[in-house]
Amino acid sequence: MSALVAVEQAVRRFGSVTAVDAVSLALAENEFFALLGPSGCGKTTLLRLIAGFERPDSGRIMIAGQDMTQVRPRQRPVNLMFQSYALFPHMTVAANVAYGLEMERLPKSEIRHRVGEVLEIAELSALAKRKPEQLSGGQRQRVALARALVKRPKVLLLDEPLAALDRQLREQMQLELKRLQHEVGITFCIVTHDQEEALVMADRVALMQAGRIAQLGPPQELYEHPATHFVASFIGRMNFFAGKVVAEGLQHQSLGLLRGERPAELAVGDKASLAVRPERLSVDAADKDNRLSGAVREISYRGGDLLIQVGVDGLEEPLTARLGIEALERIPEVGAAITLGWDATHSRLLSNS
Ligand code: ATP
Repeated sequence: MSALVAVEQAVRRFGSVTAVDAVSLALAENEFFALLGPSGCGKTTLLRLIAGFERPDSGRIMIAGQDMTQVRPRQRPVNLMFQSYALFPHMTVAANVAYGLEMERLPKSEIRHRVGEVLEIAELSALAKRKPEQLSGGQRQRVALARALVKRPKVLLLDEPLAALDRQLREQMQLELKRLQHEVGITFCIVTHDQEEALVMADRVALMQAGRIAQLGPPQELYEHPATHFVASFIGRMNFFAGKVVAEGLQHQSLGLLRGERPAELAVGDKASLAVRPERLSVDAADKDNRLSGAVREISYRGGDLLIQVGVDGLEEPLTARLGIEALERIPEVGAAITLGWDATHSRLLSNS
């Protein structure tokens, strides 16, 4: 993997807060990368370090092999798209998109050609003569994107680009952004606090926690093999059991042994959590390595599948299972007893960090 952007041990402090704490990461060419994490974890600061709007207190920012740490934002081959879009209200869509190239004093014919090209890609050609106020939220978003893309940056940085859109449009634009990135072949680095958004769009995700990277990898890796309790709880739903590591898994104070494979970083006797995804629980519990019985508390239908909550003696939180709709006839009614099971291979033993 050739690194297009390399952040090397970057630190950025604001007074006593270390917003970015010795972060290193590399963005590949042509990659859709997401910085994900809860509010205040340092995502925006990291993005602004790459863009050049913040300087690191220590560490380096390399772009395309060159040290850009002291280079001004405008001189970097990156473009940051702001959440507010910042379109000029009195200008047409085409003029908004052309603006940046006019500032660069490019020949008129080249501007026309590049604007036409990018409007086409963003599916805005038919709207070229409209003003921003005559556009929908999603269309405005596309104009902002077109305006950023027309400058042909090596990296496009997007800070919560879909935050202003309603849910349905946001889902549509997630796919749209991905298509666009694929088509233009530019590296995208997006900031989001929405885990679903990151999983849907990104080739790789860096999940941040208090200024550091908790885990970096493809979405499926973070989902299936979370490195810590924090990662497992931030991404998707998870059932957790707290206890002590034993050779066969985890010893829970009231449930006894829960089977799972012990990762190398955990030693027998360590305090840890065993985690299992709701979709790994089954009502065909008889031949499973782990079985828990309890009373059905709630059944909720969700289109293609159902979520059931089961109260288990000795557990504070109810167990959540996601079952296929075909399981419906085998689930007892609310209040009745049920046994759920899962295999040891689907248990994840996690340190409590
Ligand atoms: P959000 O999702 O809420 O935007 P974030 O993950 O993008 O959060 P940052 O905006 O990078 O987080 O902020 C990280 C930390 O640095 C926070 O504690 C924030 O209060 C602090 N911080 C950011 N910018 C400044 C600043 N200019 N002055 C002082 N503190 C700042």
